Amino acid sequence: MSSFAQFNFDPRIVSAIERMGYKEPTPIQEKAIPVVMAGGDVMGAAQTGTGKTAGYGLPLIARVLPKANTSMSPARHPVRALILTPTRELADQVSVNLEQYASDTPLRVGVVYGGVDIRPQSDMLRRGVEILTATPGRLLDHIEQRATNLSQVEVVVLDEADRMLDMGFLPDISRILKLLPENRQNLMFSATFSPEITRLAKNFLRPNPTVVEVARQNQTAETVTQEVYQVTDREKTDVLIDILKTRGEDQGPMKQVIVFVNAKITCRRLARTLERVGINADAIHGDKTQEERQAALEGFKTGAIHVLVATDVAARGLDIKELPCVVNYDVPFSAEDYVHRIGRTGRAGSHGLAIMLATREDGRLVEAIEKLTKQTFHQVPLRPLSRQARAEMRRGSERGDRSDRERVDTPEDEKLARERARAYVPPSQRHRDPIFDMPYREKSAANAKPEELRVFERENTRRPRQVAALLGGLRLPPALR
Ligand code: AMP
Repeated sequence: MSSFAQFNFDPRIVSAIERMGYKEPTPIQEKAIPVVMAGGDVMGAAQTGTGKTAGYGLPLIARVLPKANTSMSPARHPVRALILTPTRELADQVSVNLEQYASDTPLRVGVVYGGVDIRPQSDMLRRGVEILTATPGRLLDHIEQRATNLSQVEVVVLDEADRMLDMGFLPDISRILKLLPENRQNLMFSATFSPEITRLAKNFLRPNPTVVEVARQNQTAETVTQEVYQVTDREKTDVLIDILKTRGEDQGPMKQVIVFVNAKITCRRLARTLERVGINADAIHGDKTQEERQAALEGFKTGAIHVLVATDVAARGLDIKELPCVVNYDVPFSAEDYVHRIGRTGRAGSHGLAIMLATREDGRLVEAIEKLTKQTFHQVPLRPLSRQARAEMRRGSERGDRSDRERVDTPEDEKLARERARAYVPPSQRHRDPIFDMPYREKSAANAKPEELRVFERENTRRPRQVAALLGGLRLPPALR
């Protein structure tokens, strides 16, 4: 059995690992930690839930630890390790982990992301912080305000790089990379691979990075049972309710499940419908404030909320341990999202269940998932329970909760179904979230910009196709040309 002892971590890191209760390294940690400790670049193929944060976080702390100090001077605490994440939830989660791993060291750990007051973050940056986790847009805000600079960064991590590209962060990432010293260590993690990700890796990483994989690319974990049910659009909500009420322990209600939907409007309405039939549900989507999202997440973690209805963007990177089941109420528009969604269950060897409801119109999307994950679903037609079966279920229910007795196929629900159909978001608009998804854009001319940023913008306006232009614009190492 492998152990953390093989890495010869500083005792102050060892004590943190013990406190976290980690007994042995996960496969990604076993592979990534020695490479990162030795200063190598890493291309990691790993989803959230594999232990990837400690996989890069622990050795990253070990790398910068020799320069740790207790001086009060901000100049003695420059940013030495930078972790970029696509969402603020993931940023928060990563930073909480890093804080725990570094808590016995004098290293300062901080996090910055948009959507909240910038001033406390600026104060923190001005006091100095060695390990900084950030979403790209807010980090650029701070750089423009000169609250921090990145000239002494030694290690950079792009976490969930695929999602950063999906969300249009490539220009922001390029701007940030230009502000970093050339001589640095680069780590990149992505759950899925596409030609764009491979190109980004070639430009971002030094030649011959170590590729660290824990599952085969774009494969779903073997520990997840996948079920796909054919439903009609009209019956979808009733089928979901039946599943939520009968697929838990002893054919009882499910206690911890994320239901994925494609549109914010579906998210809101579905959570409300579930509440109406006595299911403790909450919605998590991009229109919710940070506080509302955190509250929903906390409720879910403590068990007060049984069902979290979520859009992909909002649910991205949420660290929820041992989730027994996820339901795809909507078939995701992108097959990669399917891999991400079901990656939240069956973690770390525990068994998981992934249920998907597919209508006839979803046929092409389901095929795309089958192609990507190299499997063929056995699709089973499923109807909602009959009135009689529901009545029997109610009689059998110990509590006989009043709200349980409501029918769900009321005219109001039909209206809901129609509205849901209208709320369909075409693929080109997916992940458009006004607060969280849009890449950083400067609105006011009040702040003078560093020269590097202005240069970038000029380049950018000349070239309308941002992805190709930026990738083409970066210098490729000879070995990768
Ligand atoms: P991550 O994939 O980094 O989001 O980690 C998922 C969860 O696994 C987090 O709650 C970690 O605290 C936990 N974890 C990470 N490494 C280990 C380990 N070696 N043993 C047990 N749990 C771990």
